[in-house]
Amino acid sequence: MHEWAVAESIVLTVIQEAEKNNLKSLERITLRIGELQKMEKDILCFAMESLFKDQGYNISRDSFLIYEEPAVFKCNFCGNSWAYAEALNHISEEEKEFIHFIPEVAHGFLKCSSCGSADFELEKGRGVIVESIIGETC
Ligand SMILES: [Zn+2]
Repeated sequence: MHEWAVAESIVLTVIQEAEKNNLKSLERITLRIGELQKMEKDILCFAMESLFKDQGYNISRDSFLIYEEPAVFKCNFCGNSWAYAEALNHISEEEKEFIHFIPEVAHGFLKCSSCGSADFELEKGRGVIVESIIGETC
């Protein structure tokens, strides 16, 4: 499952950093997840919890702090950038559903809010970033 693959790379990254910084225990992990990243947060937290346990780190899901990063598009034509949330005001409910499940189709529904061009790209709002790791050195 997608969430498990993502959890595995998060856990590997965190453990690498923890070892580099001599952290013996982990207390809080802050993640930023793109608005358009299709991710079940419950499954992700469950996966991280068990993967950390396998690696000998005892950290519960209450210690995972997850922020959502808003999706931002940037026009290739005029350089204007705009938020997905703002663009949603101009499209129908049905189209929103489509974009949520298949972000790639956004190009069919959205246009640059400044010049109207359909030549734009997703600048932010995909992927998962480990923002900070808090732990103890003893
Ligand atoms: Zn534009």
